[in-house]
Amino acid sequence: MSASDVIRHDIKQMSVYKVTDVPEDCIKLDAMESPYEYPEELKEELASILSEVPLNRYLNPLSCGIREIIYEQFNIQADAQVVLGNGSDELIQFLTLLIAKPGAKVLSVEPSFVMYERCANLYGLNYVGVPLNPDFTMDLDATLAAIQTHQPAITFLAYPNNPTGGRFERSEVEAILAAATGIVVVDQAYGAFASDSFFPQAGQYDNLVVLKTLSKIGFAGIRMGFAAGPQAIMQELQKIMPPYNMNQLSVATAKFAVKYPQFISGSIDKLKSERERMRTAIRSYDVIEDFASEANFLTIRVPDAQKLYDTLLEHKILIKNLHGVHPLLDQCVRITVGLPEENQAVLDIFQKMYES
Ligand SMILES: *Cc1c(COP(=O)(O)O)cnc(C)c1O
Repeated sequence: MSASDVIRHDIKQMSVYKVTDVPEDCIKLDAMESPYEYPEELKEELASILSEVPLNRYLNPLSCGIREIIYEQFNIQADAQVVLGNGSDELIQFLTLLIAKPGAKVLSVEPSFVMYERCANLYGLNYVGVPLNPDFTMDLDATLAAIQTHQPAITFLAYPNNPTGGRFERSEVEAILAAATGIVVVDQAYGAFASDSFFPQAGQYDNLVVLKTLSKIGFAGIRMGFAAGPQAIMQELQKIMPPYNMNQLSVATAKFAVKYPQFISGSIDKLKSERERMRTAIRSYDVIEDFASEANFLTIRVPDAQKLYDTLLEHKILIKNLHGVHPLLDQCVRITVGLPEENQAVLDIFQKMYES
């Protein structure tokens, strides 16, 4: 008998979430990070603020002022309660733990964000994945039927969706909110790049929790996410969050970030306009199928996804090959929108590979 024998068998069977090793001076377009860093003078200002942060003290999330900022910045109504997470991944995990009674079910559409299923598995819950349509729009009838059949304790919808990029119809999410038997989490990780939001409704539905992260808008490194929803759910969620999950440096950085909103809004505008420029260029190739995106990435279907991935990597450009991840993602790749010159480097290779 060795000590590791006590570890759950299903965990031993799991694989580690793979964070890709990035070759040096590679153009990194695989993980939906923002390519924009603060200019020197803002870096210096931030450095001097961070040097004053009391690293010897725990952060008090209730009195540190970040929640007030979140309500104001994200248009959250006073009747919603906000819970902070060390990245929204942590909130997805604890929202799942919140409903983890024996036999409880977790529902999402698929393909979607892998953490929903991973968290269901982690807590020994049943995961139900309802396939999207081949064009990655929602199959609302099938989704409502699955909700009816499986009575999920929690339903996750990424709005816009990852890895497909499209935003479901607002009316579809509303239909799910009306039909759902449990909590509905609307994950707005890409909300900054989208044309619609459920934040104004947080607190108004008794089953709606809206999730947000700063990761995709320039701050992946600080691990800052939050959830907004009705008191009756959020007060229970707060009970099970690790009491000191948020750290002083991240919160100080987030407060600094809202002092300079033009940095964030400026980079969002540039990325949105680059997304459309790339889409227009990509549409000129008959052999590429492109899908609607309201996120900071484009998911496309090409003749040979592995070949495109390899060719880009030879040119030190890293993207995400989605082929094999889900049957609907046959020969698909996901390309994060980067700096204009980075995007151009991708388009130049497209021209070589796909121009007939
Ligand atoms: C990236 C992503 C997250 C995770 O965000 P973190 O705050 O970095 O943990 C959550 N949901 C979706 C849909 C994402 O794509």
